[in-house]
Amino acid sequence: MDFVKIPTKQPKHEFIPESELRGQQLRDFVFAGNALFTVLNKTSGNYVTFKVKKHKEDDVWFVTTLGQYGSYDFIGTCFSDKKFKYSRKSDVSETDQKVAVFKWFLTKFFNDQNKYEEVKVYHHGRCGACAKVLTTPESIKEGIGPVCSGRKYKKRAS
Ligand SMILES: [Zn+2]
Repeated sequence: MDFVKIPTKQPKHEFIPESELRGQQLRDFVFAGNALFTVLNKTSGNYVTFKVKKHKEDDVWFVTTLGQYGSYDFIGTCFSDKKFKYSRKSDVSETDQKVAVFKWFLTKFFNDQNKYEEVKVYHHGRCGACAKVLTTPESIKEGIGPVCSGRKYKKRAS
């Protein structure tokens, strides 16, 4: 994966080590409903920010990426199989590096993170499910707020 030519004129966000997403936590976060995260290549210093937002009822996730001017551009959809499908309605070209990074992220990195030491994923201090600002150290580490993680737990138990 050529991970070096990503535009970097995006608004800067300071990431703290606590907001790194790893393993199952990362996989839960991305499809939690309102996931905002950045994929960073530590070697090149380049990064891309994505938002993965779930449809209100259906198992459909809409993927947008932060553009150079601060807007989020729609690039495609994930269905219940959690595979990414590029959308022809997107204003971003399928050959754009940001689309390539998301495809790579989901097919290669997602289940095999340890293979790519130079790549880190961070959330932005917001709950992956409801997008509210995370306030406690535990919830920042988890990437999910106490209310949402409680709800998830109840759902699993029933
Ligand atoms: Zn929440």
